[in-house]
Amino acid sequence: MGGASRYAESSACASTDVVGDAEDLVMYDDMNTCRDCGGKCCKRAPGCAFPEDFGLPNIERLNAALASGRWAIDWWEGDPRDGINELDQAFFIRPAIKGYEGQRYHASWGGDCTFLGTNGCELASEKRPRQCRQLEPKPNSNCVLHGDSDKQSAAISWLKYADALIDK
Ligand code: SF4
Repeated sequence: MGGASRYAESSACASTDVVGDAEDLVMYDDMNTCRDCGGKCCKRAPGCAFPEDFGLPNIERLNAALASGRWAIDWWEGDPRDGINELDQAFFIRPAIKGYEGQRYHASWGGDCTFLGTNGCELASEKRPRQCRQLEPKPNSNCVLHGDSDKQSAAISWLKYADALIDK
């Protein structure tokens, strides 16, 4: 799971400033804890984004994000909905993994998030994927994820926009 290497005071890189302002959600910034950890979560895998992060149903910011090469379409194997088995996979969006920028579809088992820099996350707090914003940093990597923000929930949240994620 990706998460909150939020130890930089920094703000967003203009070229990746495509995620909306997430004023509706509590954000769990704790730069000291993230600095001590060094961003292990961001090195394991990028956090999952949800449709509202890009302002859907308006598709423009999502298209810009994918065109930047710094966001990718990943997928959940099988049907993410509990008790339902109608799908072979369900797509969701996350930042690209370093070394795989520009790859529109990328099934990953982990790696460094493309936005993880030497001073922490390049993105301003409110521009990060929902899963990153909802991860509460805790000492010794005992971080707590809040509010249905895991990968399965992300895959479910994107189901109604599946058409926008599939090349035709
Ligand atoms: S977007 Fe930022 S906080 Fe989220 S995984 Fe990437 S580097 Fe970490």
